[in-house]
Amino acid sequence: MFHLDYIAALSGWLIFKEQNVSKQWVYLFTEVAQAEAYKGGSWDAVRGLLGGKGAGLADMTRAGVPVPPGFTITTEACNAYVAGGDKFPEGMWDQVLAALKKVEEATGKKFGDPANPLLVSCRSGAKFSMPGMMDTVLNIGLNDETAAGMVKLTGNPRFVNDSYRRLVEMFGSVVLGIPDEPFEDALKEYKAHKGYKLDTEMTAEDWQAMVGTFKAIIKKHKGFVFPQEPLKQLSLATEAVFHSWMGKKAIDYRRAANIPDDLGTAVNIVTMVFGNMGNDSGTGVAFTRNPSTGEKKMMGEYLLNAQGEDVVAGIRNTDPVENMSQTMPDVYKQFMEITARLEKHYKEMQDVEFTIERGKLWMLQTRTAKRTAASEVKVAVDMVNEGLITKEEAVSRVKTEQLDALLHPYFDEATMKAAEKAGKLYAKGVNASPGAASGQIYFDADTAEKMAKEHKQSVIMVRPFTKPDDVHGMLAAKGVLTSEGGASSHAAVVARQFGVPCVVGASMMQIDLEKRLMTSNGITVKEGEWISIDGATGKVFVGELKTTNPNLEEMTDLLTLLNWADSIARLQVWANSDYPQDARRARKFGAKGIGLCRTEHMFFEPARLPIVQRMILAKDPAVQKAALDELLPFQRSDFAGLFNAMDGYPVIIRLIDPPMHEFMPDEEKLFEEVVTMRVQGETKGLAEKETLLAAIKAMHESNPMMGLRGVRLSIYMPELVEMQVRAIFEAACDETKKGIVVKPEVMIPLTGTVKELEWIQPRLVRIAKQVLEEKGVDKLNYKFGTMIEIPRAAVTAGEIAAVAEFFSFGTNDLTQMTFGYSRDDAERNFLVKYVEEGILVKNPFQTIDRAGVGKLMQMAVNDGRAVRPNLEVGICGEHGGDPDSIEFCHLIGNNYVSCSPFRVPIARLAAAHAALKHGKGLVQDK
Ligand code: PEP
Ligand code: MG
Repeated sequence: MFHLDYIAALSGWLIFKEQNVSKQWVYLFTEVAQAEAYKGGSWDAVRGLLGGKGAGLADMTRAGVPVPPGFTITTEACNAYVAGGDKFPEGMWDQVLAALKKVEEATGKKFGDPANPLLVSCRSGAKFSMPGMMDTVLNIGLNDETAAGMVKLTGNPRFVNDSYRRLVEMFGSVVLGIPDEPFEDALKEYKAHKGYKLDTEMTAEDWQAMVGTFKAIIKKHKGFVFPQEPLKQLSLATEAVFHSWMGKKAIDYRRAANIPDDLGTAVNIVTMVFGNMGNDSGTGVAFTRNPSTGEKKMMGEYLLNAQGEDVVAGIRNTDPVENMSQTMPDVYKQFMEITARLEKHYKEMQDVEFTIERGKLWMLQTRTAKRTAASEVKVAVDMVNEGLITKEEAVSRVKTEQLDALLHPYFDEATMKAAEKAGKLYAKGVNASPGAASGQIYFDADTAEKMAKEHKQSVIMVRPFTKPDDVHGMLAAKGVLTSEGGASSHAAVVARQFGVPCVVGASMMQIDLEKRLMTSNGITVKEGEWISIDGATGKVFVGELKTTNPNLEEMTDLLTLLNWADSIARLQVWANSDYPQDARRARKFGAKGIGLCRTEHMFFEPARLPIVQRMILAKDPAVQKAALDELLPFQRSDFAGLFNAMDGYPVIIRLIDPPMHEFMPDEEKLFEEVVTMRVQGETKGLAEKETLLAAIKAMHESNPMMGLRGVRLSIYMPELVEMQVRAIFEAACDETKKGIVVKPEVMIPLTGTVKELEWIQPRLVRIAKQVLEEKGVDKLNYKFGTMIEIPRAAVTAGEIAAVAEFFSFGTNDLTQMTFGYSRDDAERNFLVKYVEEGILVKNPFQTIDRAGVGKLMQMAVNDGRAVRPNLEVGICGEHGGDPDSIEFCHLIGNNYVSCSPFRVPIARLAAAHAALKHGKGLVQDK
């Protein structure tokens, strides 16, 4: 038994030995194809075999780039070394020697030859980068003889002696494991003795002295001398790299980064090249295109007769790379060819490091270049036009956050950093509407508007929170700042809609409306003084910060990219717009319809509000009808304007939604006026005010958001929505007769049960038909549908779809009612803490809560389409402009998302990203 086991073990070992002897342990950088063949064509496996760095160098070599010749000892060799009890596997060293010969042939130099010595670096390189696992050993191959030879060759003894002492020092610490201190202390002492402060003061003789000192340190610590044989240096350095794989530092790192132990590390042996070998040598760094603008023009700098550190350290003034066309025309030509080839190979803008050694160009590194958003867009579009990448690739490269940054005025990073450094950071709130603005602060809408319009000031309107009658001030202002409210507060919604930069809920700010000042962070700012707000980060600064302005129409590359995005996306992007000028803007930004017109916003205009109030207060039906008759022409012209602006596209008009008290004067203020009049014995007008006050009191509700609003209001007071429907269809007919293609969709808000729709919708449809008849229009493409904003509506969507011809998710209310969080208060009260504590991953008023609200939406789409297969489904809550939520809408099969005009370009890009990630088909089709 024992005998058989022994034989089996022995034959296993023999097979192992046989395999190892014939195995390829070493790959020249030119042998990437062999590595690929060995690994069955998998690049990931090649990276596993050669390590990230080795695979990269080999890949560059394959791309025809002059990489300093070299080779990689594989990770399998490392594993065999460790498994074999710290012995190179059989055949490995012979392969190293053979590879070294090839490198000598390629460079025309010889390892250990004083007449023309080859020097190499030895670097570790695992599949995944493990910073700090083992330092590189440079200048292997230097000894007393080759150093003397190098001095002859370069005429630069200072450089050679400095390189030599670096080798002895690195060899001592990295390979032989001597602590750094003895080397560092010796150099310190020497410099002190000479009275030097900097290494640059060391002369050739000084460095030569240090070589001797460092050699003595090795002798003292190890008992043997620094090896003069270059091959010995190389084999010891290679062993040190293998050893380092099982060192404590590396093991700790692997545990933390979840990297398996059996990957092993590769060892890269690379020819050293020097840029400081005279005036036909040099070194530099460059971007293949402009990283700020994306312009297709090489941008970089270089230095003649210098080492890499000199360029980075900025000790000497560098020259622009194009000057090389004068100083080294052949090298420059080659450099331009190589960088073009690199771009073609990687299909990306590159950031390169290069060295020229005696007229010969070497590329030391290439990587994808970091760049600005503007540059990202231009490079992506140019690369499609150059045939390098596909439109899909271009669209996927540009991130929605980059687009966001591009489309709004902004404070550049340096400006904000400088302001923070100067102690100007004043407060922080919710980043409600992107863009940056500086202006003088005013604490009420009237003054804000007056200062902006009459005094031509840049204004920031500051309020604790805003209400519908503040809108004129917000529109006149360059920015809006509130101390209360969250991402779906009135201020946030309106600001986003109109593209006004806005920060809300900056709760550390104390606003004193009486004294017309505010205090935060120990600083008091008075009305009329300057502040700056950044709607992208939620930061508020004191004083004026400079902004930079983009212009979409001039951004031709971006427009091209967005057209490609549209051809890729399945979801359409519509816009939430209340006025024709917003609709026109939305259309310019690429909206394919209006997904929400909040008709109540039109009622707040000064000429209309008294009529609306009269209508609400009327006891006599005749008075009410008269008020409605007065409102009708206003509404008709509003709608005509919208239809006209959106010629050919659908326009969804939502019937009145908010509780009636929102149209009435402020109860507290009115009460104060009444009391003052009573005290002062003023009788004129008192009775009217008292009647008004009583009416407002009667309208009071404890929970107005859950009160008499939406479809409930339409059922309670049908005359108002009947007027609205008449206005919609009269306008639609008039515009149709003018040749405009009108597609009205009437939207009933806040449905909770199908019975509500069954009650109201037929009455409204009757009016629509009646108007068509009156106007003699026999064909009009129209729909009646509803919002899904109440969980019950989502759950009973199948019933609702039997009546409603379309659904639009009102995710502001749907989120509010699904969570039971007040949309106006939650963000200022507890939501921030919830997100900080991880109770919620994201603010659900900004990004759809897929697990809860999202589930309801999915159910509604499925159940709705089961009854009405062609049911049109959209979203018009604030989430319609949020990329994560847009992805979700793609997944559940929405037809469109609707968002504020300014977010339309971002939504178009996000819709394309969703299609690229998940495919164009509906999930249920798969
Ligand atoms: C919604 O609830 O998502 C919606 C769009 O309606 P509003 O914000 O006007 O309530
Ligand atoms: Mg709503």
